[in-house]
Amino acid sequence: MNGDLLTVLYDALLTLAYPQVCAICGRSVERRRFGVACEACWKNARIFNGAETLCWKCGVPAPVEVLNAVRDQVRCRRCDAQSFTAARAAGLYEGALRESVLMLKRQPDVSQHVETLLVAAARREPLNVSTRIVPVPLYGERMRMRGFNQASIVAQVLSKSLGLPLDEESLLRVSGSEKYRAGLDAKGRHDTVAGAFAVRNPRLVENEDILLVDDVFTTGATVSACAEALLVAGARNVLVLTVARAQL
Ligand SMILES: [Zn+2]
Ligand SMILES: [Zn+2]
Repeated sequence: MNGDLLTVLYDALLTLAYPQVCAICGRSVERRRFGVACEACWKNARIFNGAETLCWKCGVPAPVEVLNAVRDQVRCRRCDAQSFTAARAAGLYEGALRESVLMLKRQPDVSQHVETLLVAAARREPLNVSTRIVPVPLYGERMRMRGFNQASIVAQVLSKSLGLPLDEESLLRVSGSEKYRAGLDAKGRHDTVAGAFAVRNPRLVENEDILLVDDVFTTGATVSACAEALLVAGARNVLVLTVARAQL
């Protein structure tokens, strides 16, 4: 019996023993590798595959498609002030990808499907030059409450798949003043996280192309503050990879 067939049988048995209900449509999830959503709901998710036109810097979908040759000149201009070199995500923060992000905050586990999508994004331009993986650190108190940092879980998975060193030591969160306040605009959020990060040992990040990993990209304020600290410490580039990004 080949391995594929075994996997199918194993998944079928698992579905009988521990039926996983799709977080979106409520039908059962056929394969364990899909995680929280069924195959049909994954098909509806908006996943980036490298063929779409994005703001080259922040990765937001562009309103018009342009030729491949000039994609690296596309800018939304709203991200001009952000410190990272470029940011990409597996897809948009909706449907199956949104449910996967929410699950990751409750359970320290990345489904095989999400891993495959992240690895593909990391191997595409402009992230494919990365030399070292750094997760966005969680503030100590929140870390103690949750018991794990979801960005670290994603970073660990990527480190293994990509064969790049994982660095959970260099970047520190030095201030816990960042609190989510409803109605806070992008400028306000930037102010609350600016200066919240520091690099412990600059020699470790010097001249490195850092792959900065987080679960979700919303305004970019958090990853931009991290990038600022890493670049000041001597990193060459800070390339951001998140599971999902908001369509702003
Ligand atoms: Zn479904
Ligand atoms: Zn942009």
